[in-house]
Amino acid sequence: MFTCLSHDIIAHETTHALLDSIHPRFNESTNPDVLAFHEAFADIVAIFQHFSFPEVLSDQIARTRGDLESQSLLGQLAQELGQALGRGAALRDALGGMKDGKWQAHQPNPKLLEGAKGPHARGAILVAAVFRAFLSMYRSRIVDLLRIASNGSGILPAGALHPDLVNRLAAEASKSAKHILQMCIRALDYCPRSM
Ligand SMILES: [Zn+2]
Repeated sequence: MFTCLSHDIIAHETTHALLDSIHPRFNESTNPDVLAFHEAFADIVAIFQHFSFPEVLSDQIARTRGDLESQSLLGQLAQELGQALGRGAALRDALGGMKDGKWQAHQPNPKLLEGAKGPHARGAILVAAVFRAFLSMYRSRIVDLLRIASNGSGILPAGALHPDLVNRLAAEASKSAKHILQMCIRALDYCPRSM
């Protein structure tokens, strides 16, 4: 397994380096969530990069019939490394995970943060929250397209989606991903800076 060939891992690690140069003190673990933020931010950048590859995006939109809340590669990080580690699943998944041999969406759990230990586990909660915000933005932006494609019912007929619809859904997903990633990056400028 060559992690140097994994786009997700390179995007994640590069983001750590960029964050270090903007906020060097974010590397000092003054409380458990400082390093958790580092991990979360690196995952957020890596995940939303997925939406900048038009072929991957269209393929996943077609497979999920536009429902990005179902299992897709878009919300998962480092699938190959996860498999190589014997997890039978991606290294991290913002939306769900394998349970009893089947992928299931995570249920919201307000007590999760209390029990989460370590920067990756705590960071995953922030990643999931940002990804959920992205999904609701995407859902509200495609509601008209779904109505047009379903004679007003909003419920798509069974079968493969028309390629034109796939392209329009992909365009909305990619635009929403760009917007939410920009919001997250801009937030760094609002954080206190120390020299
Ligand atoms: Zn990391």
